[in-house]
Amino acid sequence: MNIKAFLNTISSNTRTLPIVIIYVTEGCNLKCVTCSYRQALPGELSFEEIENLAGTLAQYGLKHIVYSGGEPLLRRDFPEICKVFAEYGVKQTLLTNGLLLEKRIDDIKQYFTEIIVSVDGANPDTHNKIRGVNSFEIILRGIAKTLASENRPEVSIRTVLQKQNFRELEGLIELTKHTGINRISFLAADVSSDAYGRDTRGAVEDESRIALNPAEIIELRTIIDLLAVKYEKEFASGLISESPGKLHHIADYYDALISGGSMPFPKNLCNAPMVSAVITSTGDIHPCFFLPSFGNIRKSSFSELINTPSIMDTRKQVKKMKPVRCKECVCTLYTSPKNALLDRF
Ligand code: SF4
Ligand code: SF4
Repeated sequence: MNIKAFLNTISSNTRTLPIVIIYVTEGCNLKCVTCSYRQALPGELSFEEIENLAGTLAQYGLKHIVYSGGEPLLRRDFPEICKVFAEYGVKQTLLTNGLLLEKRIDDIKQYFTEIIVSVDGANPDTHNKIRGVNSFEIILRGIAKTLASENRPEVSIRTVLQKQNFRELEGLIELTKHTGINRISFLAADVSSDAYGRDTRGAVEDESRIALNPAEIIELRTIIDLLAVKYEKEFASGLISESPGKLHHIADYYDALISGGSMPFPKNLCNAPMVSAVITSTGDIHPCFFLPSFGNIRKSSFSELINTPSIMDTRKQVKKMKPVRCKECVCTLYTSPKNALLDRF
């Protein structure tokens, strides 16, 4: 029983932090159209700082560390970082663009029960255009090598459904089935927040080249309805993470995005700031991927940061889904009070 986590979900005061997403680097070897992360930032957290952080997070009841970025596998001391968290017995998940999977499979097998690889097209042309680098074949080779290895982690792929790839929904499901990938999940493209370095670091494709237009949204809905029948078994088994209804939520999101305010965004449910935090490669701590930082772990102790007036106010606002960012959010996290109590993170 995790009483502290349960209490987190019903209040704005945090007693424990079960899930932490850490950007071990913001450098990346791809150039995706929706993201500005390219070079590592100067002054990234050192190995020693991350080691200390792991000890502090363990005291705050960490259960699950998720590595993101940037591309985590670019960091040379990444295996040592994983080893530190492994010693605290926490579950580890890797979000990766997959480009270095083939080379780093031994490290990955040692520390991960689950990896999530971004694949943005069912064929090289689409994927490479969205990801900005010829990477499709290399990524699929890395996935195949992972799937063929002993004691392998579960492999999921994640696709950002957008203008250039929504017609490949079926192809992506087929790719998942035929390669033996454990599951596929889909989300809409976030083009309006300043997450992923878009506030400070450079241009991404214009929204109109990423978001679907009205005719394309109708087409997407038709595709989803056809696939709901054709892949009934795969939806039921969880091979496709989202239900057909949830996939329509993506179409609803694009409808709202292009409506200029005349259509509401689909309803979101999220309590990310009650059970988790995102820590950037330079130590800023955020309530989630999208909301502003409420401090820096280099400047303040964790005990000072965890319940600042600012983050407690954010939690109150998120409870009512008041921030505009929450209404437009494409990547929510919800842990029910029951799951929190049962320590399911
Ligand atoms: S979305 Fe991920 S893989 Fe693509 S450029 Fe950004 S950090 Fe790199
Ligand atoms: S809905 Fe989105 S923006 Fe709001 S707290 Fe959750 S993850 Fe953050």
